[in-house]
Order: sequence, then structure tokens, then C-alpha cells
Amino acid sequence: MKKYDFVVVGGGIVGLTTALEITCRRMGSVAVFEKETVLGMHSSGRNSGVIHAGIYYTPGSLKAHLCVSGAKRLWDYAEEKKLPHQRIGKVIVTTREDQLSILNDLSQRAKANGVRVELLDEKGLNAIEPHARTVGKALYSPDTAVIDPKTVLKALAEDITRLGGHVFYDSKVLHIDAAERQMVTNCDVFQYGHLVNAAGLDADSLAHRMGVGLKYRILPFKGAYKKIAPNSPAQFRGLVYPTPDPQLPFLGVHITKNVYGELFLGPTATPALGCENYTGFQKIDYLRLPKNFWYLGCMFVMNRNGFFNLVRSEIAKYSAKGFYEEVKKLSPFIRPQDIIGCDKVGIRAQPFDCSTMQLVMDFLVEKGPASTHILNAVSPAFTSSFALAESIVNGIEKDLNAPH
Ligand SMILES: Cc1cc2nc3c(=O)[nH]c(=O)nc-3n(C[C@H](O)[C@H](O)[C@H](O)COP(=O)(O)OP(=O)(O)OC[C@H]3O[C@@H](n4cnc5c(N)ncnc54)[C@H](O)[C@@H]3O)c2cc1C
Repeated sequence: MKKYDFVVVGGGIVGLTTALEITCRRMGSVAVFEKETVLGMHSSGRNSGVIHAGIYYTPGSLKAHLCVSGAKRLWDYAEEKKLPHQRIGKVIVTTREDQLSILNDLSQRAKANGVRVELLDEKGLNAIEPHARTVGKALYSPDTAVIDPKTVLKALAEDITRLGGHVFYDSKVLHIDAAERQMVTNCDVFQYGHLVNAAGLDADSLAHRMGVGLKYRILPFKGAYKKIAPNSPAQFRGLVYPTPDPQLPFLGVHITKNVYGELFLGPTATPALGCENYTGFQKIDYLRLPKNFWYLGCMFVMNRNGFFNLVRSEIAKYSAKGFYEEVKKLSPFIRPQDIIGCDKVGIRAQPFDCSTMQLVMDFLVEKGPASTHILNAVSPAFTSSFALAESIVNGIEKDLNAPH
């Protein structure tokens, strides 16, 4: 039987950065197990590709700390590897006057997190992003950047392999025997010293099988995008976001420009029918669906995390007219005929705490028998990944060095 000191389940950004961190520290042999034949089939390859500066997150939270330091490390990695990345900046606009207090609060949060931001009036916004619209004030973040996520995943896998680690593709982890430290994949059986569960949308079911994080459940939220036609009169230098609802982990439909200059609108945030239900009625998870809908229903009735508002606004976005109404608030220059369909869609692995009936907002890492489980790696986990990996591996090292 093959043996590795460390096995990492999941070759998304979290699994790969964690494996690279272990490899770089020379802590022992490492192997990553990825169930797909290529990298980036799920969240890490289907996101907006934004390197967030760290504006939104509560000062002192893990997200705030890891986003700010992670953004710098991801930028440096992209520079070193010559990956496509650009610092194009971002504006957060208001669509109603009552959002001005939220914008001021975001400005304070950003400053407390050590992030450069500037409050602009309408004239100032016009100078930076002439085709965006705001009501009174906008918040400008010059350091927000974009990157091509799949190129990062590829570079990480290459680095892990070059440094002596292994990345197994088409290797789904099916069964774990925590007592024996054995793991069964569709290809083989492996012995391990420590297991890192970075299985993204499947992280909760894997953790539950090892008796970990039983009160958490991942609720999948679909994020669909549309594109702005290249010949649209509406053009943007950078990113345009609405002022978010502070109770929700989602940022609202925004305008993103990728490193190749394409303009996207989205993502939406609707409950998905399964963790891989990217299109229509494909891959519906009939086993989990009833309970997921029960929890979503409870959140709606109790209006937890402002869920009532989310449902109302998401239903409105379902129609082309409703979606356009949202977009128009960000820029009056976008015409209905400029919005074209596209197949870009991602699913967020949003953990839900069944004991408090609330969405979990911060990153969440739980310990288990000879294992570490990353149960909440929602946005901005791509941005934060290098710093998150460092903190995960610090935790593992501390446990390994602790007297037994
Ligand atoms: C629509 C959308 C937009 C986003 N935008 C941004 C953004 O702009 N900036 C940002 O910082 N973050 C963004 N995020 C968040 C970010 O993409 C995710 O937080 C991050 O990619 C999570 O990475 P992960 O490694 O945990 O999960 P994943 O990328 O899902 O990786 C998990 C991997 O585990 C594999 N796996 C699962 N089960 C098994 C198993 N049993 N055996 C073997 N392999 C398994 C899967 O195939 C998958 O490849 C966005 C997310 C979404 C969905």
C-alpha cells in the first residue's frame, strides 16, 4: 500500500496551496487527490477571478486578515510565474441614498484592514469610471486586481510536482478509515499520516464521515453570469460593484473585466439543486435536496442573514427585464441588447450552521482525528488562498509538535 505523510483531498486552490506550503516546508511526502481529470472544474476555475483588496470583511476576522495578506502573496506569485494578472481597480457604487451609511462603514472597515480606499463624489467617479453611475458617493479601491484562476491552479500543480509532491487526477476519495489512517480512492488504497480535507463543495460530507463538523452543512448557491457585448457603448476600465447587503455573504451582481478584457455581469446567488448542478436539471442531488430546502425555508421564514431580501432580489433577476434593472443601476450606458448570454456559471460552497440556523460568514477550519477540514472556503478564498494555506499548515505543524 502506498503511504504519504500528508494527503490532500481536492485539487482546488485551497488544496493546492496547502499542498505547496507543506512541500515547501519539507514536512514530509505529500499527495493531492483530485476527482476530475483536469483542474478548475469547480469553484476555483469558475469564479470571477478578482483579487479582492479586503474591503468588506469585519476587522479582526480571519477573512479580513487572510484576504489582505493573501492578495499580496497571490499577486507576487503571479508576478514570479508571469501569469496573466492586472491591477485594474474597483468602484463600489450606491444605488439608493440610504446605502451611503453602508458605504461609509465599508470605507472605515477597509482602512481598519489596512486597505487603500478613497470616497469619491459623482465627479470623482466620472473621472475614474465614466460609464458607472452612483447616488452621491462611491468607494474606489485602486488595488483590486484580476487574474486568470486556471493559470494559477496549473502553476501550483507544476510547482508541487517539481518539488517532489504528487497530484493524482481522476482520483476520487471514496472512503476514509480514520482509525487506520487509510483512504480508498477509485484507483487505489493509501495510508496517510495526516489528511487535509479541501474538497470544496464536498468538504462537509467528507468531514461528517470522519465525525467532524457535524453541525455544518454546505448549501450550494449558484452564480450565473452574462456578458456585455464587445461592441456595447458601455466600456469599463475596472470593476463596478453595488453596495452589498452587509448581512449577506454575496456581493450582488457586478461588472467584472477579466484579464483578457471581456466584460461579465453577475454572479447571481440562487440555491442550486446539487453541488454540481451547473445547468438546468443536471446533477440534482436528490438525497440532500429535501434537507437543503428545509434549511433554506427556515432561513426565509426567520429572515436569517437578510434571506428574505436575497430571495426577493434573486427572483427579480430571473427575468431578462429584472436582470437588466439591476445592471442599469450600475451603469445607464448598458443597453438591454448589450447583455448577451454566456455559459459561465459557478457554485459557491456556502456553509450553514444548523445549530444557529445562520450562514457561516468567516473561514472555518476544524480539526479531526489526524485530519484538518476546511469547511468554509467561500469568497474571497481564492484571493486568500496562500495566506489561508499558511495558517492551515501552521495549525497542522503545531498539532504535530504538541506533546502527546
Ligand atoms: C461564482 C463564484 C465567484 C467567485 N468569485 C471569487 C473572486 O472573484 N475572488 C475570490 O477570491 N474568490 C471568489 N470565489 C470564491 C472562490 O472561488 C472559492 O472560495 C475557492 O475557489 C474555493 O476553493 P476550494 O479549493 O475550497 O474549492 P474547489 O475549487 O471547489 O476545489 C475542491 C476540489 O475538490 C475536488 N473534490 C471534491 N470531492 C472530492 C473527492 N471526494 N475526492 C477527490 N477530489 C474531490 C473537486 O473536484 C474540486 O476540484 C467565487 C466563487 C464562486 C462560486
